[in-house]
Amino acid sequence: MQMHTNIAPILESSLAYAGGFLNTGRVSQYISNLAAANPAHLGCVVMEPGGVTHKAGDWDVHFSIQSISKVISLMYALKTLGHEVVFDKVGMEPSGDPYNCLIKLETAGEKPFNPFINAGAITVISLLAENTPFDEVLDFAGRAFGASVGVDEDVFAQETHAGTRNRSMAYLMASKGALGENVETYLSFYFRLCAVSVNAAHVAHLGAVLASGGKCPHTGQEIVPQWVVRTTKAIMLTCGMYDGSGDFAVNVGLPAKSGIGGGIVSCGGGLGIGTFGPALDAKGNSVGGIKTLWHLSEKLGLHTFV
Ligand code: GLU
Repeated sequence: MQMHTNIAPILESSLAYAGGFLNTGRVSQYISNLAAANPAHLGCVVMEPGGVTHKAGDWDVHFSIQSISKVISLMYALKTLGHEVVFDKVGMEPSGDPYNCLIKLETAGEKPFNPFINAGAITVISLLAENTPFDEVLDFAGRAFGASVGVDEDVFAQETHAGTRNRSMAYLMASKGALGENVETYLSFYFRLCAVSVNAAHVAHLGAVLASGGKCPHTGQEIVPQWVVRTTKAIMLTCGMYDGSGDFAVNVGLPAKSGIGGGIVSCGGGLGIGTFGPALDAKGNSVGGIKTLWHLSEKLGLHTFV
């Protein structure tokens, strides 16, 4: 296990560096709750093995997890349904397209490319939603985030109203037999999971679970088996940052998953990392989060491929 010293000052200098780029981003306009976010917010939490935590900036601001939910749904589906059932319905290849793109559903066969684009996540959730109550997945999310978490009902209502594109995608897949028939149930499950409210410390705890092979950083108790973490981190590295995943893998070199709420979960060198910065780049990734992770990766020597 890599030993890290000076995490606290490096974290502060990473945020100072990243703060200089926030004016190049824009908050998501997808729903009014996201559009009302403060683009100047930037926070980060780094969690060491054993749970020692370093917090900086606007780490305690709550935001909706949005596509970070795709890590939760993938891990829980793999844990409870197994590799075969999940990857029978969804691929594990980067799509190179924006997260909410429909084109390949028509032109490239029936399976969505991966579990981190919307079509893939809705497919994974359709498998869960047939037999699993939402609250069971919410409980699991709480274990992964290190605290019980809840749904922001306002965000959920707005997502349900604004989700026409996701609805189109789901019905298109159902029309081809690639999705079961309870489409509204799957969509509602998906929107509710996107609307779970957290702060950067919760996200760092999830990062620490991923960093430690699936264990709670405080108790050592297994949250998911090691093979689930390996599969999830591999897909995070190749597909976690939308159609900016290749750039992020080369320059930052860490498994990561972002959401348009401004959060990014990442891990490396045994550390769990959660960032929050709602100003997004053109691909939907947090500008401040990417710059913070780049700086941390450089200064702490975290890049996966040394
Ligand atoms: N709720 C958003 C959607 O489904 C999540 C998008 C994201 O964070 O990538 O479009």
